Amino acid sequence: MKTGNDEVVDLFQDKVSELLLRHRSILDSISKHAETAVRINRAITKSVTDCGCISINARKQHLPAGTSLEECRKYMLSHLEGHLCENCREVIEEEIGNHLFYLTALCNLLGFKLEDIFFKEYEKLKALGYFHLS
Ligand SMILES: [Zn+2]
Repeated sequence: MKTGNDEVVDLFQDKVSELLLRHRSILDSISKHAETAVRINRAITKSVTDCGCISINARKQHLPAGTSLEECRKYMLSHLEGHLCENCREVIEEEIGNHLFYLTALCNLLGFKLEDIFFKEYEKLKALGYFHLS
């Protein structure tokens, strides 16, 4: 029995495998994965256009000449203003959770261990640092 928080990804993947009855076909999981990604973006958009707790104020990013990679963070804008209200945060979090479910379902169907992917990506980020950004 796994119990530690460090194994939550593994526990989650096992549970998704148990529950994956309705979307057993890879085609169902592919389409649900895409649909849930769209629903995350829709929920974020509704936070801007329906609720209004956040707004987007976008413009070209400007970096002063000679800015080092480490200093970039100071000048790069998120284009986001405000803070998610409790309701929007809850909705977006739920949509992200649904997306994780179908991402994990794809991993299960194709024989990937999600924890291994997290670890490999973490190692890659550690090794590449700022240079992983494209
Ligand atoms: Zn809101």
